[in-house]
Amino acid sequence: MSRRPFVAGNWKMHRTPSETAPFMERLIDALPEGPDVAVCVPFTSIAAAASAAAGSWLRVYAQTMHELAEGAFTGEVSAPMLVDAGADGVLLGHSERRQHFGETDEALRLKIESAHDAGLEVIFAIGETGDEREAGQTEPVLRRQVEVAYRGLSVERVARTTIAYEPVWAIGTGRTATPEMAQQAHAFIRSLLPESARDGVRIQYGGSMKPENAAQLLAQPDIDGGLIGGASLDAAAFAAIVGAAPA
Ligand code: PEP
Repeated sequence: MSRRPFVAGNWKMHRTPSETAPFMERLIDALPEGPDVAVCVPFTSIAAAASAAAGSWLRVYAQTMHELAEGAFTGEVSAPMLVDAGADGVLLGHSERRQHFGETDEALRLKIESAHDAGLEVIFAIGETGDEREAGQTEPVLRRQVEVAYRGLSVERVARTTIAYEPVWAIGTGRTATPEMAQQAHAFIRSLLPESARDGVRIQYGGSMKPENAAQLLAQPDIDGGLIGGASLDAAAFAAIVGAAPA
């Protein structure tokens, strides 16, 4: 089955609302047509990004959310709030959320359902740490992350969730998984999915993807796009990565 490539930029804690509009303009001008493209922006920049992206094919995602629709959770933001602010989707389970903010596989299961119920698209991020890879634990870790977060999830929800495989040791470090290592992990992740959804699910690679290494990674049969951190803050570099996705 051919899967349309999907490249997403993760701005992390960068770009104020007033910086967002001119950046989005430059990005929309630079982006080649073909792949699906999203930017995952800070909460405060969602409205500015959505208004700049209106009428284009560029999608706007948040970088996290709370699993409940409302309640006494000071500082949190829910899926219906993201929709109302103009978001099309949400990135869930990024390793920085897991590491610094205690996001668990169990909470991620609830978040995926809550995002879908509100009408948001989801990118679900998983990946092993450097220590886990060295200890030969890559596959058990990926299996646990998928199995716990997807426990009880309908096949229809699995089918419409994009997965991002992000080896933690490659995020923001300049160390990229080789295309062969990444392909092996992607094929393994695909094998964990229910058979009827397996071929259609898009699996992005993330971890120091740049214009110089994107084409080789994106040419792998089970790599269907990228989740790009640092390089997504440079419109020309991000556009070049999008342009490296097979047509
Ligand atoms: C990320 O934050 O998801 C990421 C992949 O970052 P970088 O591209 O900078 O490694």
